[in-house]
Amino acid sequence: MSGYNYDLFVIGAGSGGVRAARTAGALGAKVAIAEDRFYGGTCVNVGCVPKKLLVYASHFAEEFEDAAGFGWTVGERSFDWGTLIANKDAEIERLNGIYERLLKNSGVEVLWGRATVVDGHTVEVEGRRITAEHILVATGGRPFVPEFPGHEHASMSDDMFHLDRMPERVVVVGGGYIAVEFAGIFSGLGAEVTQLYRGPHFLRGFDDDVRHFLCDEMRKKGIDVRFNATIVRIEKREGDLCAELEDGTEIPADMILYATGRVPNTGGLGLEEAGVRLGDKGAIAVDQAFRSSVPSIHAIGDVIDRMQLTPVALAEGMWLARHLFGEAPAPFDYDNIPSAVFSQPTIGTVGLTEAKARSTCGDVDIYTSEFRPMKHTLSGRDERTLMKLIVDRASDRVVGAHMVGPDAGEIVQGIAIALKCGATKAQFDATIGIHPTAAEEFVTMREPAVREVDKAAE
Ligand SMILES: Cc1cc2nc3c(=O)[nH]c(=O)nc-3n(C[C@H](O)[C@H](O)[C@H](O)COP(=O)(O)OP(=O)(O)OC[C@H]3O[C@@H](n4cnc5c(N)ncnc54)[C@H](O)[C@@H]3O)c2cc1C
Repeated sequence: MSGYNYDLFVIGAGSGGVRAARTAGALGAKVAIAEDRFYGGTCVNVGCVPKKLLVYASHFAEEFEDAAGFGWTVGERSFDWGTLIANKDAEIERLNGIYERLLKNSGVEVLWGRATVVDGHTVEVEGRRITAEHILVATGGRPFVPEFPGHEHASMSDDMFHLDRMPERVVVVGGGYIAVEFAGIFSGLGAEVTQLYRGPHFLRGFDDDVRHFLCDEMRKKGIDVRFNATIVRIEKREGDLCAELEDGTEIPADMILYATGRVPNTGGLGLEEAGVRLGDKGAIAVDQAFRSSVPSIHAIGDVIDRMQLTPVALAEGMWLARHLFGEAPAPFDYDNIPSAVFSQPTIGTVGLTEAKARSTCGDVDIYTSEFRPMKHTLSGRDERTLMKLIVDRASDRVVGAHMVGPDAGEIVQGIAIALKCGATKAQFDATIGIHPTAAEEFVTMREPAVREVDKAAE
């Protein structure tokens, strides 16, 4: 080691930071990590994990109803928010402990406190200056509420996991996946939910069929989804909140959740003073090797604002540690990264949307299947599933797979391997289905749909 206290100093013990630190430690580097809030970062504490636990909780109301069609009589039902949150907290505490042990067992020194960057090789934690050959900024992002009259009455996603009471009337503002997920959670738990999005349709960037299909399903579940709707003011009136919309409409609520986007955690870190260039929204600008404008300072995860997903932060962390301390890895590949939206029903998606495929591949074939899941033939629930494949006509490669329906995330994870391997539609067709499942539709769709664009080309 060359005169520095550490080979690598990581700021932020979230998904990406912990993975980078552990991997570097395992490769023989001397590593320290600083964290000032919670082990495991956003995902473990105020993101994926507690969110998914709340999603599970919110499914039970429908499960109890659906049971009747299968002969079950379910007794009196009640839901206790306090129990859910206490059990969730206990699980998160367990995970915090696991993260702490993983770090310590990999020989990583943990410093508790806020870290700032002094220069390319120096950080400061709680007044102590520490030097390192490489500094990794993995400070993630945070939710924010834009400024407007009454914005102080709005809540953010972090608050959702520690509410004292379950709100009965919820307004969710935003059109991204976090907004859609919380609308489903509170609706499933029995709240009256309105979702407002300022644009013409939510989930921008997802396949259009998926976006419209999910919206229809959410509305069927009683969520009041409104587009082109903007709040201009929030007022507090006798304990109640009131959202006033641009068109003069008023919506009374117990809670107004702003899930309108997240900003990278780069403020007050000393980055710009140290010469680190920030890009859009304050994200750290990095090259293909996650190197900032100061070559010894690197950044990964939400703070670089490429793809805000835990597995991406993990993969970037691992890639960087290997790049710095191991054998040179192949260039980081952002293609065909699957993701899920834990909406109700769930979205699973990988590869190109139809619109993107048409603009990049040219001629494409679209295969869709829309059906009532078998379970609902007896439950009587009016919920449908959508599955869609997008095939590049010239190469026969499947370039996109999308699903809205139960277990879509679980199913599309497997399909993602096929896309990553460059599977063709003929290979999908040659795969025998598992019967009776919804997933088998992905290997039994035979006739391409005829779209308006295709008709126009005829
Ligand atoms: C509500 C919600 C739901 C989500 N659901 C999913 C999902 O289902 N699937 C999915 O893949 N992704 C999901 N995400 C996104 C996922 O959580 C993030 O992409 C992931 O956590 C990013 O990891 P990271 O390492 O970049 O940052 P983080 O996990 O945010 O870690 C950053 C860490 O740095 C610490 N820190 C910040 N500044 C300092 C400092 N100066 N000194 C010391 N420590 C500092 C923070 O306290 C934090 O622990 C969700 C996010 C949210 C908010």
